[in-house]
Amino acid sequence: MKIDLSGKTALVTASTAGIGHAIARGLAGAGAHVVINGRSQASVDKALDALARQLPTARFTGIPADLSDPAQTQALVDALPAIDILVNNAGIFGLVDFFQTDDAQWDHYWQTNVLSGVRLSRALLPGMVERGWGRVVFISSESARNIPADMIHYGVSKTAQLALSRGLAKRVAGSGVTVNAVLPGPTLSDGFATMMAEEVKRTGKSLEALGKEFVMAHRASSVIQRMASVDEVANLVVYVCSPQASATSGAALRVDGGVIDDIV
Ligand code: NAD
Repeated sequence: MKIDLSGKTALVTASTAGIGHAIARGLAGAGAHVVINGRSQASVDKALDALARQLPTARFTGIPADLSDPAQTQALVDALPAIDILVNNAGIFGLVDFFQTDDAQWDHYWQTNVLSGVRLSRALLPGMVERGWGRVVFISSESARNIPADMIHYGVSKTAQLALSRGLAKRVAGSGVTVNAVLPGPTLSDGFATMMAEEVKRTGKSLEALGKEFVMAHRASSVIQRMASVDEVANLVVYVCSPQASATSGAALRVDGGVIDDIV
């Protein structure tokens, strides 16, 4: 199968690092013009430099915006060209006990992980429907179905994305636009590397080795028994965004290494 996205324009939110960066690279590698986004001009410029070195013939544009902020999200929308592919990847995570999670933190997770995707879908889906083709993907998590007791606020936000994705797929039924959620499992992203930086220094172990220990200790049901790479996650997202994935909509697709112990 050869995926050809030439002529398509994609927005990948929070794509200056981690899974989003790999998705941006994957979509551009398949020929799409990709708009990348991060919170600051400096992080966007740095990511654009890296992508230009990796894919010198690909076309990238960068727009900074903090997507937890409705005004900055609107400014991003106003600056966008017509978008055919929207990947709602922006999301934050961190261990906080339920009894220490105050309203402000709940609200910050809700704004960043859920409302960012609500606002962008509301702004960009009508154009896709009008043009008769489009792809919207929400980067959820296995934590949407395996709610972690040590980050309930995160799990709730990721489950909400599944409801949003399924509802939007039905809302645009028959239009040629598909809406899906992708559920990664533990993934060796920049965010994970930052979380483990102290541990790498303290133990002298590699990030991969510590990642494997993390999986065996905290996600023991993993079938692959290791962290996934960001490219392994991006590969599924690029397929879901492809013309070939036209019969997949309203789905919650796992790239979790089998962590969710279920047959579907
Ligand atoms: P990451 O921390 O490696 O990268 C996140 C990127 O998002 C960074 O570039 C950061 O600058 C940007 N960002 C953060 N807040 C932002 C905001 N408010 N507005 C715009 N940009 C913002 O993260 P990651 O691990 O690649 O995670 C990406 C997505 O994948 C998230 O939605 C996360 O919930 C999901 N996910 C990650 C894992 C994992 O193990 N890494 C597992 C399942 C799901």
